[in-house]
Amino acid sequence: MIPRAAIEEILFRADIVDTISSYVTLKRAGSNFGGLCPFHSEKTPSFTVFPGTRSFYCFGCGAGGDVITFVMRAENLDYPSAVEFLAQRVGITIDHEDKNATGALVNRKRVYEMNLEAAKFFRQCLFDPALGEPGMQYFRSRGLSSTVIKRFGLGYAPSDFGLLTRHMLSKGFGEEELVTGFLCGKSQKTGRAYDYFRGRVMFPIIDTTGNVIAFGGRVLDDSKPKYLNSSDTPGFKKSRNLFALNYAKDECSEQMILCEGYMDVIALHAAGFGNAVATLGTAITGEQARIMAKYTKKVIISYDSDEAGQRAANRAMQLLGEVGLDVRVLKMHGAKDPDEYIRKFGADRFRHLLGQSKTGFEYKMENILAKYNITAPDEKIKASGELCNIIASVPSAAEREVYIGRASSALSITSDALKSDVERQRRKLIREQRKNESREALNTAKNYGDRVNTDAVKNVAANSAEETILGLILTYEEHREAIASGKIPLCAEDFFTDLGKRIFEAVMELHNNNEPFDPAYLGERFTPKEIGRITKYKIDRGQLTQNGADVLQGAVEKLKSEKMREEEKKGGDKFASLRRKQQLARDLKNKNSNS
Ligand SMILES: [Zn+2]
Repeated sequence: MIPRAAIEEILFRADIVDTISSYVTLKRAGSNFGGLCPFHSEKTPSFTVFPGTRSFYCFGCGAGGDVITFVMRAENLDYPSAVEFLAQRVGITIDHEDKNATGALVNRKRVYEMNLEAAKFFRQCLFDPALGEPGMQYFRSRGLSSTVIKRFGLGYAPSDFGLLTRHMLSKGFGEEELVTGFLCGKSQKTGRAYDYFRGRVMFPIIDTTGNVIAFGGRVLDDSKPKYLNSSDTPGFKKSRNLFALNYAKDECSEQMILCEGYMDVIALHAAGFGNAVATLGTAITGEQARIMAKYTKKVIISYDSDEAGQRAANRAMQLLGEVGLDVRVLKMHGAKDPDEYIRKFGADRFRHLLGQSKTGFEYKMENILAKYNITAPDEKIKASGELCNIIASVPSAAEREVYIGRASSALSITSDALKSDVERQRRKLIREQRKNESREALNTAKNYGDRVNTDAVKNVAANSAEETILGLILTYEEHREAIASGKIPLCAEDFFTDLGKRIFEAVMELHNNNEPFDPAYLGERFTPKEIGRITKYKIDRGQLTQNGADVLQGAVEKLKSEKMREEEKKGGDKFASLRRKQQLARDLKNKNSNS
C-alpha cells in the first residue's frame, strides 16, 4: 500500500490545474477551467477541471477523477506508477511501508529490467559470429550499418528453444515472470517455459522515457507469421505506443512520417529522416493519433503502395484528421515501401517526394479519378457522385468551395452543378447524423451500452436510486454518518449493481476507519473508467439543490423495493410481495424511532 500521507501530500502539491495544463490548454470558465479533452476527439471543449474539488470530468466521454487518475490515463500508467510519477514531479520521495503490496509497480519495473536484459542478450547474439550470422546477413542485405544497428539496439534470437530462457534464469528472473513479460511461452505438455522468439531479427520497442517495453521479431524467410510482437504486458500496450517515437520526438515538431514497418522507420532514420515512426504491427488507433498530435502538427502517411496499404492509409487519414492534425499522404511509384524506395532511388528523391505529398482530399480524388474512365458519361457520373460525397463530409465551407473548384476542373463539370449536388448530400449527412445522435442519447438515457456499469441496464430505476445515494455519500459527511450509525438502514447487499456495491463498500470503509475522506483515496481500487463514473455521480449531485436526508431516505427506499422486486422475479415467490411491504414498514418504524 502507498501510505495515505504520501497520497495526501501529492494531492496537495501536484496542483490539478498546473498538472493538467501541461497536457491540455485550459481556459478559465468561472471558478473552473475548460479545454479540449485529451481522451477523446472533440472540437468544442467538454473537458472541465474543478480546482475546488481537485477533480476533472469530461462531459463528452465520461473520463474523470483526480490528478492521479488523470496521470494514469494521460501517461498510460497503473496507479502506483502514476503516484510515483507525480511524486517525482513535485519532488517528494515515497517510503513504501510494504514493498510486496505495491505489486503492480514491482511488476512493471521488473518487466522493464527483464526486457533490457533480453535486449542485451539479443544484441550479443547478433554480434556473435557463431550465433548471429543469419541475423547479421539479413540486416546487411537491407543496407544497415553497424552504427544504425547499434542505435536501434537491434538483435537476433537464434533458433533455439532454451537459449534466452536459460540466460534469463541465470540472471535471477523466474519462469512465471518471463511468461508474463512475453519473452517465454509455456509448454502445455511439460509446463516449462521456452523461448518465444526464435530465428528472428529483434526490434526492441523503447518508450519515450527510454524503457524497453516490448519486442517485435521478424522472420528471415517467408514463413509465417512474418512479424511476432509481444502481447500487451504490465509495461506495454500496443495501442498506446509508437516504434521509434523515443528518437522521433525531438525531431518532429514540424512534421512526422508515419510508416507501416520497423524496417521502413530504420531505413528512414538512417537516411536522415529522424522524424519517422511506425505503429506496432497493428492498424493505427485513436490513442496513437492523439499521442502524435502531442508531438507534431503534420503527419505524412507513408504506407505500402499495395491495396492493403492504401486501405490502411484511408483509415489513418480519418483518425489523424479527427485529432486536428494536418494529414498528407505519400504516393510512391516504383517501390513497394519507403525502405525499398530509398534503396532504389536515394534519400534526395524521397525528400522531394515528401514535398509533393498530397492532402487527404487530393489523395482520395486521385484514387477516384484513377478508378473510372471519365470520358465515358456513366463512369464520369459515378466519379462525380463519389467526389461529391467526400466533399460533403468536409466541415469547413471554404474548404468545400476549394475542393468543388478542383473537382470541377478535373471532371469538366460546372462548379454550380457540383455545388448543388454537394449541398444536397451534405443536408442528407447532417440529417443522418442528427438521427444517430438522438438515438444515442435515447440509448444512454436507458443505460444501453453502458460498459462501465454493465448491470445498470437491467434495472434502470434501481440504478438511478443507487446513483443518487452514491452521489450523496460521496459528497456529504453527514449522509455517510447517517448510514454508518444505522439511522438510515442500508448495507452493501441492498445494492443492485456490482459497481454500486463496490463503491458503497469502499466509501463506507474509509468513513468507518475515521480517515479524512476524498474520492481520490478510492483510486487504488477502481479502474480509471470507474473513477470517471464516480466523479460523474459527485458532479451530478453538485448540480442539484435538493441534497438533504429526505432525498437519501427516498432513494434508499426506492432501491430496496426495486431490489426486492428483482428477487421476487427470480424466485417466483408469491409471498415476497407481502414480505417486501412488511420490511418497508419495519424500516419506516426504525427510521421514526431513530429520529
Ligand atoms: Zn473526453
